[in-house]
Amino acid sequence: MGLNELTIHAAHELLVKREISSTELTKTCLDRIEEIDDDLKAFVSVTKEKALKQALVVDKQKSFENETLAGIPMQLKDLICTKGVRTTCSSRMLENFIPPYNATVTDRLFDRGAVLLGKGNMDEFAMGSSTENSAFFTTRNPWNLGCVPGGSSGGSAAAVSARETFYSLGSDTGGSIRQPASLCGVVALKPTYGLVSRYGLIAFASSLDQIGPLTRDVKDSAIVMNGIAGYDPRDSTSIKGTCPDYTASLGKGLEDLKFGVPKEYFTEGTEPGVKKALNAAIKVLEGLGAHLEECSLPSTKYALACYYIIAPSECSANLARYDGVKYGHSQRLAEDMWESMELTRKEGFGAEVKRRIMLGTYALSSGYYDAYYLKAQRVRTIIRSEMNDAFQKYDALITPTSPTVAFNLGAKTADPVQMYLSDICTIPANISGIPSISIPCGFDRGLPIGMQIMGPVLSEVELLNIAFSYEQATDWHNIGPSL
Ligand code: GLN
Repeated sequence: MGLNELTIHAAHELLVKREISSTELTKTCLDRIEEIDDDLKAFVSVTKEKALKQALVVDKQKSFENETLAGIPMQLKDLICTKGVRTTCSSRMLENFIPPYNATVTDRLFDRGAVLLGKGNMDEFAMGSSTENSAFFTTRNPWNLGCVPGGSSGGSAAAVSARETFYSLGSDTGGSIRQPASLCGVVALKPTYGLVSRYGLIAFASSLDQIGPLTRDVKDSAIVMNGIAGYDPRDSTSIKGTCPDYTASLGKGLEDLKFGVPKEYFTEGTEPGVKKALNAAIKVLEGLGAHLEECSLPSTKYALACYYIIAPSECSANLARYDGVKYGHSQRLAEDMWESMELTRKEGFGAEVKRRIMLGTYALSSGYYDAYYLKAQRVRTIIRSEMNDAFQKYDALITPTSPTVAFNLGAKTADPVQMYLSDICTIPANISGIPSISIPCGFDRGLPIGMQIMGPVLSEVELLNIAFSYEQATDWHNIGPSL
């Protein structure tokens, strides 16, 4: 087994015993990237020199017993700002943008001795479910290079799955870390809205965006959460208070927990293989002592429509800043300021980003605001309160993460609505601000399937315990792609 195949916790133990060095770990990952990334295309940039420098600093440290992330190589999705390192959002608009500051999560990881391998490919400005909307290239699925890795954090999921990196941070607005994790067979946790700082995360839809870890197992997810969660005065939506140790409850078991299985999450488009895997997973959870029953969340059917009003509306406001004046692409060969702005945006944004800006501008425009935006906000309140009611009765909700396994490249690019339907199971958690974890629960046609576990606000400790119990009883997380 190569060093790059270790989990964070396994690598940490070897580091502490000085049996391996961070430089060795980093070199193994860089070799792996060199070996396969021409085919996989999970990285927009590889920061080899920086990584080796950071690794050397850790190797010279006397002790790092209490710093599980020290010396561990990682990747960041290319919308998380890294000072001095190009941060593109996989867009022509920011192709040459070098941030003058770090995102809070970047600083927190660097303070703990993390090693940055590079930046992960994504759908442009995080809009998409297949990474095919990257302005640069499409990332492939490590289980089948003819399939998409999911999106928008497709580079993150593919890199973790293919053992190029120990973990990656992605962002999730409607499912962008959970859906690709499901399609690539890795673990992803979308935290409670406000638990992880968004400072330095390039905004898509600010009331929905959250940063979260993609890892190879549940314990690693808890370890990364320990590194990134917590109050940040620079994010006005950040939750005040101290965070628990996310690894503390792992192994507590499922005795006496009650889970709901909402029937609306098994929609028409759910593949039989996905249903079968979920049913088997439910049996495993029951075997571990949990009580499961079918339940109903009737407003779920409005979640997708509600999201596709709110997210584009917020995006149309957030992306107004790309005017060619302050930073990013700028077309100066124009008659006047207005033409320069027009050309800048025309050249800088891809088709899907333009579609979202137009949808959002329309929904917010006078005369339509009440009918679309305001109504969507009301629906959001209903969905959220229905979710809260469910958690009066259940400790968690169990659903598929995605209705399908990874689909072929190009299969959905001509039909945006089909693409949007990929997130039908993940969007409600963003709308409600609740945490949700996706873990591998089987295969169909050789492609991974993910189970989603949603819990009430700030139930990350409990969700991680549930996911851990399932993971320990199964073997899915130990199976990697043969790439
Ligand atoms: N696929 C969804 C979209 O295109 C979600 C994206 C995300 O979570 N960033 O908007």
